[in-house]
Amino acid sequence: MMSIDVRNGDHLPATISLDLEVQRILGLPPKMFVNGARTETRRGATLDVINPSTGEALWRAAEADRDDVDVAVRSARAAADLGVWTVRMSPSDRQRCLWRLGDLIAREARVFGQLDALDCGRPVSRVELGDVPASAEHFAYYAGWATKLNGRTFPADTRGMHVYSVREPVGVVGLITPWNYPLLMAAWKLAPALAAGNCVVLKPAEQTPLSALYLAELAIEAGIPEGVFNVVTGIGAVAGAALVEHPAVDKIGFTGSVDVARSIVRASAVDLKRVSLELGGKSPNIVFADADLDLALEGSLWATMGNSGQSCTAGSRLYVQEGIYEEFVQALVVRASSLTVGAGLASEACDLGPLITDRQMTRVLGWIDSAKSDGATVVCGGQRMAGENAQGFYVEPTVITDVTDDLDVVKEEIFGPVMAVMPFRDCDEVIERANNSRFGLAAGVWSNDLSTVHEVAGRIRAGTIWVNTWGLTSPAVPFGGMKQSGKGREMGEDALDLYTETKSIWMGWQNPSK
Ligand code: ADP
Repeated sequence: MMSIDVRNGDHLPATISLDLEVQRILGLPPKMFVNGARTETRRGATLDVINPSTGEALWRAAEADRDDVDVAVRSARAAADLGVWTVRMSPSDRQRCLWRLGDLIAREARVFGQLDALDCGRPVSRVELGDVPASAEHFAYYAGWATKLNGRTFPADTRGMHVYSVREPVGVVGLITPWNYPLLMAAWKLAPALAAGNCVVLKPAEQTPLSALYLAELAIEAGIPEGVFNVVTGIGAVAGAALVEHPAVDKIGFTGSVDVARSIVRASAVDLKRVSLELGGKSPNIVFADADLDLALEGSLWATMGNSGQSCTAGSRLYVQEGIYEEFVQALVVRASSLTVGAGLASEACDLGPLITDRQMTRVLGWIDSAKSDGATVVCGGQRMAGENAQGFYVEPTVITDVTDDLDVVKEEIFGPVMAVMPFRDCDEVIERANNSRFGLAAGVWSNDLSTVHEVAGRIRAGTIWVNTWGLTSPAVPFGGMKQSGKGREMGEDALDLYTETKSIWMGWQNPSK
């Protein structure tokens, strides 16, 4: 069953050597993580995990089916019903476990860096220096909340009635995560869910199961009891759907595409399961002529190209004010063409990695071709990469101009390193165009004029507005989408609402001297 096919060294353009711990992990047989241990699936089916940097199989993951999901859910249900993480542990015990898990993530930064770089092609240094500390910080932040989930008292009746509320965990939570930042997306959901006392079954994306399984091992080392944090690996339409449909799962937290979100919402109607959704976007990014243009250029470049465009917040609709448009596009082309693209584990750090799959690469190239046939101009990039990157799923950083608002490349989420750049005249016009989208996840505005900034920030319908910056998130700051970009807010205090139920308790009492 064991499959190690990490082509580390000989045929690739210099990649870093894998740490021993990563080699150990890649030598593990394909299993899920249930009730505190790596566990075989009943039928032993597996699925190849492809390294997008090389196009080759890198590992075989267990392919959980409905029965396997049932085993994992039962494990979480038993842990929840026995109160191993709530009644039998104090909030400060939970706090300490989550804090320790954050520390362990930081300790294993190299391992997580290499696992996610192998699985999703994200440059290893960006995982190690970006995603890993951010994930560790998430656990540290929510560790603190474990001891601060206060209830309230209510003046419901002045005599003979004491009314108060407590915040309880929802129970068993199914978490379904995407492949674009595997560790971080898991941390965003796990940390608040666990802090609130829930028991969890996590289903990572089929393309990127490695870091989730490793995180589950570390959770045991951190002292989180067996059964509290389980991982099932497998295909979305099978394992993910089984989790959504399972009657013993109380809530689903999902990050992914709008189409899958629709099927989850439909399935959740059967038992009216709680669902929170963090979906896609087509985020407008608006550069006014008075902005600090160097800052705006760099910010706008990374807003779209970062992680090869595979971010739900990608600022892939770039509006540049007339007057600076031509000059800005030229500078953008120079910068976009200078980005280095290469393997996730390339020994000379690259700016960008590949796209996640062959299929995704083909889709992105299709969007570019359709823009061209609609009369748009591809001013840089636009092709699959050749040379030493020819085996992986690489697309050149691409800038497209001469587009109209009705083109797919302006309306649809592309999830590739592709930005559409458009000129605009004034504030009212650009706000209307920015809001003309079914998405509402994020938006950016670059200007030094306070009135302009307030006007745009106030009128754009998006869950996050970045002013003279792009892409910042923090565990303390709510994040999520309006319109078809999602439902509910992750991070900050708001995320605790997603993972708790409020219970009101009416307690009658009598005056003992009467
Ligand atoms: P993307 O298009 O970015 O791959 P998806 O929405 O397809 O995003 O996938 C996000 C997550 O949802 C993955 O973990 C995937 O396995 C899971 N998933 C896909 N289809 C379903 C489904 N029908 N039910 C539940 N989860 C699913």
